[in-house]
Amino acid sequence: MLTGVDAAGRVLERLEQLYALGGGRGANRLGYSEAEDEAHELVARWMEEAGLELERDTAGNLIGRLRGRRPELPEVWTGSHLDSVPEGGRFDGALGVVGGLDAGARAGREERTLAVVAFRDEERGCSGSRARVREASLPGAFLELHVEQGPRLADAGAPLGVVRGIVGYVRGEVLFEGRAGHAGTTPMDRRTDALCAAAEFVLRARDVARAIPDVVATVGRVEVEPGGSNVIPARVRVSIDARAPDAERLDRLVSGLAVGPLQRTEPVAFDGDLRAALRTELERIGLPPAELVSGAGHDAGILAAAGVPAAMLFVRSLAGGVSHSPEEESSGEDVALALDVLAAALCRLAA
Ligand SMILES: [Zn+2]
Repeated sequence: MLTGVDAAGRVLERLEQLYALGGGRGANRLGYSEAEDEAHELVARWMEEAGLELERDTAGNLIGRLRGRRPELPEVWTGSHLDSVPEGGRFDGALGVVGGLDAGARAGREERTLAVVAFRDEERGCSGSRARVREASLPGAFLELHVEQGPRLADAGAPLGVVRGIVGYVRGEVLFEGRAGHAGTTPMDRRTDALCAAAEFVLRARDVARAIPDVVATVGRVEVEPGGSNVIPARVRVSIDARAPDAERLDRLVSGLAVGPLQRTEPVAFDGDLRAALRTELERIGLPPAELVSGAGHDAGILAAAGVPAAMLFVRSLAGGVSHSPEEESSGEDVALALDVLAAALCRLAA
């Protein structure tokens, strides 16, 4: 049986194999692409080698089960996704599947059935896990291993972190209307410039978000009409994406932005018992019990919102926390610690 650093070595090697699919620079395994199919086939082979029973559901999610001694009890699942963004990194998603496979195999046969799942098409909105919660049976517990995709664990000097939940967010488009006019002949005090109003909004979004702890707001797209360099802007559309760790801070953020209705997704809190199980394992191996809220959505959030007790374990991201990029990096030592913690937690839950 492989343990610790050996197991991490095998996991890293498998991540390289998945990374090589799709060709080009970085991981290119978009949801439901040929490369994502190939990744699922490769992982299915590894699951079979590990003696797991395979299920492919109607959405194409892959589930490998190690039958427990009491299969009538609710199942314990771990896993993540195998798709990537265009030119993605080695770890996002794939670590949770490949690492979950390793940790599940180490946990071995327990009372409850243990399963490793590879959800389809996570990056474009979790369509695989959304289909699963609509259409098929769900586990009694779900633990997702994932890279942090940010700098906070590295800043805190913590190799691993337990995720308290997933941020809530508002998204939408805000329209500013002014009046077009000649850039040379319209005096400054006679203008209604839509881009100046939009610019004030961009800065307000920044200031509102800065004033509330752990809140972020981003304007990533601006469209100016009519778009002439010598025409006063008449219409400006800006995107807004604003996120907060809990409903109270999301409410404050929304009222501070002071714009019309935005599409709102509520924050998700992960299960207290599962988080405690992960914290216990962190303490057992002498690691600080760091906790954080995920600023990104994950399959575990979809399952949690559907009522499945779920939690996540984050591995420290290096290189400044960069993700969705070939520069994404985590160390073999940190991955080894994560496999230890995940295997022990799965054992505890399935016993
Ligand atoms: Zn991911």
